[in-house]
Amino acid sequence: MQTTHRLADMLRFQSTEQYKFGIIMLGMACLLFALVTIPAGTLTLGLFGVLLFAVFVAPRMTLTLPRSELYISFSDSVVFFTFLVYGGEMAIVVAFAETLANCIYLKRNSNLTGKWVLLFNSSLGALVTAFAFAIYYLVTWGIGQHGTLTDTRSLITALGVISIAHFLASSLLVSVYRRIKSDADTLWQIWKKECLSTAMSQITGAGLAGVVYKLTTYADPVVMLVAGGGIGILYLSYRQSIGDINSAFDQVEEAERQKAETERTRRVEAEEFAGQLTIALSKEEQANKALRKSERDFAHAAMHDSLTGLANRKNFGDVLRRLIAEYKVDPSKEFQVLFLDIRSFKNINDTLGHTIGDKVLTIAAKRFVRMLDVKDTVARIGGDEFAIILRGLGSTSKAEKVARRIYQNITQPFSLSGNSITVDINIGIAPCDVEYDTPEEILRDADIAMHYAKEKGNGLAVFTKELRERFLERVRLEMDLRYAIDRNELALHYQPIISLSDGRIVGFEALLRWYHSDLGMIPPTKFIPIAEDSGLIKPITVWILAEACRQITKWQAMAPDYRSLMVSINISGKHLGNNDLIDDVQRAIDITHIDPSSLKLEITESAAMENPEHTVNMLKSLKTLGVQLSIDDFGTGYSSLSHLHKLPFDTLKIDRSFVSSVGESGENSEILQTIISLAKNLRMRVVAEGIETESQLHVLQNLGCDFGQGYLMAKPKGREETEKLLYQRPSWLPDAPLAEYEQHISDTYDAHLPVF
Ligand code: C2E
Ligand code: MG
Ligand code: MG
Repeated sequence: MQTTHRLADMLRFQSTEQYKFGIIMLGMACLLFALVTIPAGTLTLGLFGVLLFAVFVAPRMTLTLPRSELYISFSDSVVFFTFLVYGGEMAIVVAFAETLANCIYLKRNSNLTGKWVLLFNSSLGALVTAFAFAIYYLVTWGIGQHGTLTDTRSLITALGVISIAHFLASSLLVSVYRRIKSDADTLWQIWKKECLSTAMSQITGAGLAGVVYKLTTYADPVVMLVAGGGIGILYLSYRQSIGDINSAFDQVEEAERQKAETERTRRVEAEEFAGQLTIALSKEEQANKALRKSERDFAHAAMHDSLTGLANRKNFGDVLRRLIAEYKVDPSKEFQVLFLDIRSFKNINDTLGHTIGDKVLTIAAKRFVRMLDVKDTVARIGGDEFAIILRGLGSTSKAEKVARRIYQNITQPFSLSGNSITVDINIGIAPCDVEYDTPEEILRDADIAMHYAKEKGNGLAVFTKELRERFLERVRLEMDLRYAIDRNELALHYQPIISLSDGRIVGFEALLRWYHSDLGMIPPTKFIPIAEDSGLIKPITVWILAEACRQITKWQAMAPDYRSLMVSINISGKHLGNNDLIDDVQRAIDITHIDPSSLKLEITESAAMENPEHTVNMLKSLKTLGVQLSIDDFGTGYSSLSHLHKLPFDTLKIDRSFVSSVGESGENSEILQTIISLAKNLRMRVVAEGIETESQLHVLQNLGCDFGQGYLMAKPKGREETEKLLYQRPSWLPDAPLAEYEQHISDTYDAHLPVF
């Protein structure tokens, strides 16, 4: 395509050049002909003046009509005048010279460019004039007017023929040239657009030539001078007017240009402003979007838990409030609330770190959501507490089934960062009830059921009114327990521990008693768990340590044989988990001046095994204080032998259940035997608790059990009663002949007994 265009361009260039060459050749031929054929008498001073005028003045006198392609050239006038006065041959020469001068003038003003342009234009001028000359001869010869210019008619005819022929020839040749140069327009269009207007110049030129001819030929010098002056003034005023018009047009153009410039500037400014406005609007839109997003995020954050993405307590409360209201109106819209608490979550946090703790919560949350229906609601309502609303199940037993499924799923071990983790949970279920008015009420009851499940240790429980009563009682006990020490409601009972080989009393177990001012005696099995849950166990144990140590040092001073009396104090698993225990024990030793070896701390097997690593460290620290350690209720927990081996216990207390299972004839003693031999192998002394029958006593004696404790020997008694017993020197073993025993005691202690 491009090659085709290039070829066409080349061909056109070639044709233009050939055309130019042709015109130059013809023009030069005409010039040559004219020069050769000029009559000798023509070369006058006047002709010389005309030639000078044509070469130097005429090109500078061209007037261009404002806002048009039209111009009035004096070149044509000079050529036509020469034609009239000196003949066609001389007109050809003048046309050539004048066009050449004109072109030189234009070229100097940079208005004319191109190859051979001077020669081409000059030749064209010569050729056209020669053509007009030829036509004039033919026409005047044809009409028989040749050579007569005497009258005005023949002058007008001559000028008309010359100018028309001149115009036709020049316009045609120029149009052809333009057509060859560019094929954008047809020949006719070019002629019409670019050449027709030149007729004006030809006709004006012809008219002017006629007037000057008439003046120079017929007028006297005065008329010529007046007419010449008139024409000159006319020319100058016309030139002045054109100049004025042109400058007015220039001013208008300048004003328009400035207006266009101002408009353009305004448009640019407006576009800039519009651009800035668009940017500002888009920024505002973005800011609005960000604001709306942050509002949404904020609203989401206000209603959701940031860690798990579950609904938060407020959100859960809102849903529950709506459901409670709906249920009151339509009892078919029943629902159940589950309260879930991850057991010992604190341990996960403490031992594996909070990052793992957070992951455990997230995994638990995901599992809950996976197991539930979309219409159910899951929320995280506390650190390790979750709540679920189950809807449309139809019965509490179905809710229990769902809860059981959740329990089984969640308690499946999973691996996290290389740790195998087992999450244990307790679930309390509270079915909807018309008596509930607020979300807090139903949530509280689900929580009560959860606590009951925790107490029972079987994972889940359904709320009942009895549970609430138990709970309220528990709450009351907890409140009262806070003031129990100050109100002197707490007291220690002491149960003797007897050497089974010889019946000697070796010490006591201090057992806490609570005499409630309204409720009477409350058993430790009831209030110790409350003390543990509420954290009250720590200050209570501190009080027990001081009280028991003070008491035992007092009793040790009663007689030399009592100097080695020991006191066993029960230490709760909650207190064991707290490093303050070491300081608490040390302080009790310091303030009572008890020999640390007379103090024994009893730790239940289950508490010791809850976190064996920590227990080992704790027990080792306690041992450095010089106290003795006993593992209590042995056989009820799940001791790992490897751990047991590492724990620095001095004594092992066999749980009462193994003793009480021994029958009258000594049956069921195998477990006792096993535990006793295990203790011996671990180099621990053995205490059997809960000895109630003589057969149990004999079995234990036969098995080589070191010490015994039980109702058979003595029930736990208050300080004063115990002290009385110590003074009365009773026989601690029923088998031992009383007289013999009393004799033994009196021989040994009589002299040393303090006087009370
Ligand atoms: P424990 O430490 O195993 O205490 C022994 C329990 O067995 C005592 O019950 C005692 O009265 C009872 N007992 C002793 N011999 C017999 C018997 O022959 N037959 C029967 N049926 N019972 C016998 P108690 O005093 O009711 O204490 C129960 C549990 O409460 C204790 O078990 C101990 O775990 C806890 N406890 C008691 N006092 C304290 C205390 O001061 N601190 C802590 N942390 N726990 C205590
Ligand atoms: Mg005990
Ligand atoms: Mg015990």
